[in-house]
Amino acid sequence: MPEIKVLPQEVAELIAAGEVVERPASVIKELVENAIDAGAKHITVEIQRGGISYIRIQDDGCGIAAKDVPTAFLRHATSKIAKEDDLNAIGTLGFRGEALAAIAAVSRVELFTKTKEETMGTHYKTEGGVQVLCEEAGCPDGTTMIIRDLFFNTPARMKFLKKDVSEANAAGAVVDRIALSHPEISFRMIREGKQTLTTAGGGKIDAAVYSVLGREFAGTLIPVSAERERIAVTGLTCKPVSCRPTRNNQFVFLNGRLVRSGTVTAAVEQAYKNSAMIGKFPGFVLYISVPPETVDVNVHPAKTEVRFSDERRIFDAVYYAVKDALKGGDTRPEIKTKPPAFNPFERLKSDSFKQDKLQTETVAEAVYQHPVRESGKTFYRFQSSPPLIKEDAPAKPAEAVMREKPVIEKPREESVPVKPAVSVDIEKETEERPDVILIGEAFSTYIIAQMGNSVFMIDKHAAHERILFNRLKQSEKPQAQVLLTPVSVSLRQEEYGALLSHLEELKAAGFEAEDFGQSTIVVRTVPPTLTGEDVPSLMEELADSFLKTGRTQIEALDDLYHTVACKAAIKAGFVTSREEMAQLAKKVLTSDDLRYCPHGRPIAFEIKKRELEKQFGRIQ
Ligand code: ADP
Ligand code: MG
Repeated sequence: MPEIKVLPQEVAELIAAGEVVERPASVIKELVENAIDAGAKHITVEIQRGGISYIRIQDDGCGIAAKDVPTAFLRHATSKIAKEDDLNAIGTLGFRGEALAAIAAVSRVELFTKTKEETMGTHYKTEGGVQVLCEEAGCPDGTTMIIRDLFFNTPARMKFLKKDVSEANAAGAVVDRIALSHPEISFRMIREGKQTLTTAGGGKIDAAVYSVLGREFAGTLIPVSAERERIAVTGLTCKPVSCRPTRNNQFVFLNGRLVRSGTVTAAVEQAYKNSAMIGKFPGFVLYISVPPETVDVNVHPAKTEVRFSDERRIFDAVYYAVKDALKGGDTRPEIKTKPPAFNPFERLKSDSFKQDKLQTETVAEAVYQHPVRESGKTFYRFQSSPPLIKEDAPAKPAEAVMREKPVIEKPREESVPVKPAVSVDIEKETEERPDVILIGEAFSTYIIAQMGNSVFMIDKHAAHERILFNRLKQSEKPQAQVLLTPVSVSLRQEEYGALLSHLEELKAAGFEAEDFGQSTIVVRTVPPTLTGEDVPSLMEELADSFLKTGRTQIEALDDLYHTVACKAAIKAGFVTSREEMAQLAKKVLTSDDLRYCPHGRPIAFEIKKRELEKQFGRIQ
């Protein structure tokens, strides 16, 4: 029978530490929350090697009195609750009295602290939880905690840490969230010697959002402010046109704490129904305050999922608040279409061909308008979809990046056999194949073409995407065109970190980008067929795909090519000229490797002449 023993103090501390301290980000969360509880107005977070070798948290809060310093590092030592009753009215972020003890147990801690009342402060050091220094020292009011060599005495835990950049990204994400939840405090973050975040403090939500989430995102936001059945919902939400392909920019703060709530997300997304594109999600920063007794926030500091006693009421409060905001705000994009150039009554007289042409032109112009953001307003501008004709041509020179005139569709002709006028290089491989005859297009989406004894329906977006994807993948030298004006993109710290650590991959895909400091990168070149306007949202998407873990370099690169190809490919629903369609059909039907789009959807399907004949009862 094994003998039962009480664990030695150090072992117990280490086990407890494991629950609070998982990685540098969790240390930072605890220490920053302590600084907030101490009433700090300015908080600086500095990390080196992702926080593994060095974390410094400096605040100008109340400080710790000399006599209390050693006590603060004991387990269950807290100034925040004294008796059982206090547990029901917690107004601070921490109260378990565990963090300092846990952090100290697995690192080397150095502390400088001074209260206003004291003339001299305290300099204190521990190693693996053991005090090695405690002396008087001259230091400013407030507290500076320096954590060195995290997990130096627990190599097993050390092994679970990710690469420095990943740890730094996670740390940055923690600081971002805390900065958003406390717009009244000025935050500063320094990563590997570079300042990556500064918020102004002063309490303005939009200022905090601007600093943390970047000016591109901040520029798309409209205010939300409503109260319903004792539930107040305030904050900012994005215009429907600015919805993004990821849910990364969704933040919900409940009574001052970042939470996750399926109900809140569903309510917001419901409010966007019919105004946002399918597959795009709104970004928002919402602050919800409810009577504390109506929520069950799991008190464990690592958990953020929240449940409400009445989910329906929360849903309604959020839904109507956001819906109202969308109604009130200037959310509708300006569309500058020319009035129809014909008199509708004349249609009766004129020949049908002419009407057709005029209508097509109006539509063509409307769909080529892409939203452009400028000085806080959304403009719609003409832009042609990437011309297929340049498909296999060398990269365009810099001036070609300037906007092109929309391609006006030619009057319809009878189905014509495709002449290899536009792209000569596919001719050689297709000599023995039957001609590809363009029949037309359905729903501005599916090209219909005939080849040999079959008719094919081709998804034009999927097909073009695949062609671009293959080209990106195959080209040895990245094709890049220099942007006339480099585009600077300010991002969340996490996204910024992810892009910086993949600059080589970006370059391989035609994006030359460089660090501009303050979580901003500058993009100087883009792959052909893209424009500067595509850059900000594309960078966010790429960062997101780099951030998804467990991926090989090749997979990450493939993802990058997908994203670029998808963005650059002609869109379903957009008007495409007959030459472009003919060329695309020919390319698809004569290349054997063009079967599926990069996402695995089929590009084309075939209807055999025999099948048609059977359908019509011409043959049995
Ligand atoms: P908790 O925050 O749950 O009380 P901690 O272990 O995080 O427990 O901190 C212990 C105590 O140390 C706190 O209750 C507080 O009194 C003091 N303390 C920690 N950090 C700071 C700080 N930055 N400024 C002032 N006091 C602090
Ligand atoms: Mg604490």
